[in-house]
Amino acid sequence: MSSPPNSTNCVHDAEERPQFENANITPISLAVSYAYPTYEELKRVSLGDKEAVERGADPRHVYSRNTNPTVRTLEKKMAMLEGAEACTSFSTGMAAISNTLYTFLDSGDRVVSIRHTYGGTAQLFLNNLPRRGILPCLVDTEDEDELIRQIRSEPLKMVYLESPTNPTLKILDIERISHVAHEAGALVVVDNTFASPINQNPLQLGADLVIHSATKYLNGHGDAMGGFLCGSAELVNHVFHTREIEGATLQAFDAYLILRGLKTLKLRVEKHNSNAQAVAEFLESHPKVKQVYYPSLPTHPRHEVAKRQMKGYGGMLSFELDGGEEEVARFLNRLKLPALAASLGAIHALISTPCSSSHVECSVEERKSLNISESLVRLSVGIEESADLIADIDQALKD
Ligand SMILES: *Cc1c(COP(=O)(O)O)cnc(C)c1O
Repeated sequence: MSSPPNSTNCVHDAEERPQFENANITPISLAVSYAYPTYEELKRVSLGDKEAVERGADPRHVYSRNTNPTVRTLEKKMAMLEGAEACTSFSTGMAAISNTLYTFLDSGDRVVSIRHTYGGTAQLFLNNLPRRGILPCLVDTEDEDELIRQIRSEPLKMVYLESPTNPTLKILDIERISHVAHEAGALVVVDNTFASPINQNPLQLGADLVIHSATKYLNGHGDAMGGFLCGSAELVNHVFHTREIEGATLQAFDAYLILRGLKTLKLRVEKHNSNAQAVAEFLESHPKVKQVYYPSLPTHPRHEVAKRQMKGYGGMLSFELDGGEEEVARFLNRLKLPALAASLGAIHALISTPCSSSHVECSVEERKSLNISESLVRLSVGIEESADLIADIDQALKD
């Protein structure tokens, strides 16, 4: 797939017809196990259902920790939306990230990444991977030339990227970095949660694997958690085998909710994009706002790269208020529309400070070293009317 997914893809891709008893919606299969008429058939399916696969059909199901019909339909839709050969799913975004890292990295392996990854991911790099003898090299996200130097300097297994980054919307040139990483024989993994497949398709930019927290834009309604890994069947299968044994399986009911959320993904993301644009422009012109971080703004240092690799700039922005934590608290307490809560990418606006949400797992010193100040506010615009969001922010900023 060379063009980004459209609403027809979102609604129809991977949804089989007819469904069970001709239902017009993919059913939720809550069965733990799947029964077959004979022992021989059960054994055949348990050993990978080679006959079905040779016919071009999917292998049938045995046990829902491994595969499940509702979950599989969702994985097939996700693969199509990211233009990937295969996709596997997880109970959360962090499970997708940790299972992927632990599948490809062993003791003594070097992985190059950036310092401004999602808070939970940063914890994996700072604590969990080193405990297993894996050697992360975390580069200043704004120094892409140093990132390139680190990729070239010593043998490495993986380059792990996030773009745009959380919470300050830094942009990395995925195509350029993927090219250099492949010359060095490394796998390129990109967390595409902030962009969603509507705004950015890293596989088309040269990445090998794409990760999503489905908890955010993909489900989009703040009522289910999940994670995805998309890429070649060979690489995705490796991680699937880790996940089916380690057990961070996406549940069928959550899969159903995410499948339902995906049907409106393009409609929602387009509205998120235009709302964030309007709010970013408003904030940039406001005297009480020192700085706005949003990749569409010409003042963004990597605007040109974002313009090249993204089709839209997403619903996330962050900004520095003039003042300290007291002013931030006053502003947040006066807001009526955005919920003061963690998470992002839902139909309702969510606002928080990174030190109380995305980077709450980091110590004060770690946040300081990441330049995440106490006056940094992160806003995830919902699909409300932009004029209502702006009016609410405006009244909350008044003296
Ligand atoms: C939320 C998030 C994650 C983690 O996802 P969970 O579903 O909360 O485990 C990973 N990466 C990014 C960029 C995120 O925003």
